[in-house]
Amino acid sequence: MNIPSLRLCIVLLLGTACASTPERAALDDGPSEYTVAEDIHVRRLAPGVWLHTTLAGEDFDRYPANGLLIEDGGETLLVDTGWNARHAEQLVAWARDTLHRPVRAAVVTHFHEDRTGGVPALVAKGLPVYGLEDTARLAKERGLPVPPRTFSQEQALGPLELFFPGAGHARDNIVVFHPGSGVLFGGCFVKDGAAKDLGNVADAAVSAWPASLERTRERFPGLQVVVPGHGAPGGPELLGHTEELLR
Ligand SMILES: [Zn+2]
Repeated sequence: MNIPSLRLCIVLLLGTACASTPERAALDDGPSEYTVAEDIHVRRLAPGVWLHTTLAGEDFDRYPANGLLIEDGGETLLVDTGWNARHAEQLVAWARDTLHRPVRAAVVTHFHEDRTGGVPALVAKGLPVYGLEDTARLAKERGLPVPPRTFSQEQALGPLELFFPGAGHARDNIVVFHPGSGVLFGGCFVKDGAAKDLGNVADAAVSAWPASLERTRERFPGLQVVVPGHGAPGGPELLGHTEELLR
């Protein structure tokens, strides 16, 4: 993402923030948006599905990154950790104290820091953190936080389907599908509707990316909402938009 569109992103993000934290449980008729901290926002995408957006530090120009918190009975599953330990800790505290559904486990969707920065904080709390075998390998090679519980290709995590569709933004990018809501978390493998380029392609496999998008489409025909790694969620058209940018 270039700097002007990044700035626009931040303005839009700040423009849509947010109510203060109430004391009562966040039931479906409760508030749909929360400011957890100045740089952490949470909003409801679908019943039981929450989008978290965390801002990077000044070194990354406060670039916003998306993840999910998904309710699973009396507990919550965390998809991507925010950029750092504090983000992960505050998201975990929010799920426990406001949602009244403590985080039970987490998954990271590729090895970059906007996905994994909070892994050490989660591991320190004794939470299981899942990632692809390749994510653990690449993270270790780069000296980045390593998810301790690994899988190859696909795995169920409560109601979630974790799926490696093939390389794209990174060699190890996975997507996460929640069948109950039709929400697909595409992570950085999927670009937001306002994106004019592919963003950071330093670790990308550009030639493999289109087939990986097609595999995602075939695997999850019921998807209704697609959440990119950065920027606004959209519908299945975000897969097509990403394909356009690849051409
Ligand atoms: Zn990335």
